Amino acid sequence: MTAVQILADLGLHAADLQKGTLAVTSPIDGAVIARLPEDDAASVDAKIARAQKAFDSWRLVPAPKRGELVRLLGEELRARKEALGRLVTLECGKILQEGLGEVQEMIDICDFAVGLSRQLYGLTIASERPGHRMTETWHPLGPVGIISAFNFPVAVWSWNAALALVCGDSLIWKPSEKTPLTALACQKLLARAMARFGDAPEGLSELLIGGAEVGEQLLDDPRVPLISATGSTAMGRAVAPRVARRFGRTILELGGNNAIIVTPSADLDMAVRAILFGAVGTAGQRCTTTRRLFVHDSVYDSLLPRLKAAYDKVCIGNPLDEDTLVGPLIDKAAFEAMEAALDRARSIGGRIVGGGRVSVEGCDEGYYVRPAIVELDAPDANVMEETFAPILYVMRCTSLDDAIRRHNAVPQGLSSAIFTTDLREAERFLSAAGSDCGIANVNIGTSGAEIGGAFGGEKETGGGRESGSDAWKAYMRRQTATVNYSTDLPLAQGIVFDAP
Ligand code: NAD
Repeated sequence: MTAVQILADLGLHAADLQKGTLAVTSPIDGAVIARLPEDDAASVDAKIARAQKAFDSWRLVPAPKRGELVRLLGEELRARKEALGRLVTLECGKILQEGLGEVQEMIDICDFAVGLSRQLYGLTIASERPGHRMTETWHPLGPVGIISAFNFPVAVWSWNAALALVCGDSLIWKPSEKTPLTALACQKLLARAMARFGDAPEGLSELLIGGAEVGEQLLDDPRVPLISATGSTAMGRAVAPRVARRFGRTILELGGNNAIIVTPSADLDMAVRAILFGAVGTAGQRCTTTRRLFVHDSVYDSLLPRLKAAYDKVCIGNPLDEDTLVGPLIDKAAFEAMEAALDRARSIGGRIVGGGRVSVEGCDEGYYVRPAIVELDAPDANVMEETFAPILYVMRCTSLDDAIRRHNAVPQGLSSAIFTTDLREAERFLSAAGSDCGIANVNIGTSGAEIGGAFGGEKETGGGRESGSDAWKAYMRRQTATVNYSTDLPLAQGIVFDAP
């Protein structure tokens, strides 16, 4: 299936997508598949104004009715899962299974949000004053600015969009400049759902095309009370203080440096499969990719040969081919970052298997690499930064305490896992003195979270939470209301304030 056909299946006509300055390249073969017009300051301003106007009416639509729009969006996604999954693969290079999985995640979050639209519960709180009733209510917040990364070009938008829409907010989406086509496709699908819904306000969902400077305009605009930003820690460092300066809110979903601990009692078959998927899946370009592995001395020499054998069997190639497990890196810069990280590892005595560019027939301009395993032997070895590529650093540990200490001794805090069949070890890992990450798994790898839980991480990962659980509260404003239905006017704290 050609790029033109994939786009056509989603209602996008390739001929209309050749008139701009932003070149969109497929990482599969480096081909330019579109040239899109970019937003400028005036168009961003106009789109924010439209989203604000849409918010004024959308917030008054009853939440279960807003849920109906998200239900229709879920239907549109179900009908075009295959096409959108293919476009994800074409534009960001993940294998088709993972492209389809990403769209399934969108469908799942829509279902979740539809249920949520009838459950935006507040509280009734006991008042200390007689004849008074105190409640806590959640109200819509305003237009939500969504800045997203290239590696989950559509799922992260849907986590935000589905919740924000049922919460009564409008959307302004600035996708990665590397993946704007999937964003255009999502916008089309939402437009279709809005047309079927009937009276959704124009401007409910606005799309901004361009690079960081387009996103920056959102950061400074007081009409956008919430910025949900997904991307590198460097991006978060720029975004957070800028939004804070105007007392705006942020949800930050930033880089990870995720680790798996393998203890002496671990089921090594399960561990090998989970490590392989975690470290190699999506060519190491997930925020939850397994980047560090702490293996107890007693199982190190059994685990490593099995892991290396599993790596040897991984098929690297065109992500649209069924047998492929590892597709390309997003671009040349990603390849160079991987090479530089491996050079650094070599210079500190790391023993490396894998790495290097792989040539794939018909895809000469794609950056395909062999996933790398780097063994670091120093007793206190660790790795502090995220390189967005399939590099797994493997380190020996001598005890669970040693492993947890080194596991937590990095600036990031997104996802973590332990492989053990020892109940005490598992519980210790999940305890207050265990993993310091937002996600902690037992006998499951670090990647592939379900939408029902709150997703996000601590420390330099930014502290934000999206998707399930009570993440919706970030998209609303909380109001405490007290009603006096008595004929007296008692003051709180028993204060007497009567004129003589
Ligand atoms: P990136 O930081 O280069 O870009 C992310 C987005 O931020 C893009 O849309 C970009 O245009 C925008 N941006 C960059 N600087 C900005 C600024 N100053 N103001 C406003 N917008 C700005 O990230 P990337 O390379 O697209 O994605 C990979 C990174 O994202 C990795 O670090 C990965 O771990 C992280 N990530 C995190 C999560 C999570 O949920 N924690 C999910 C996916 C990706």
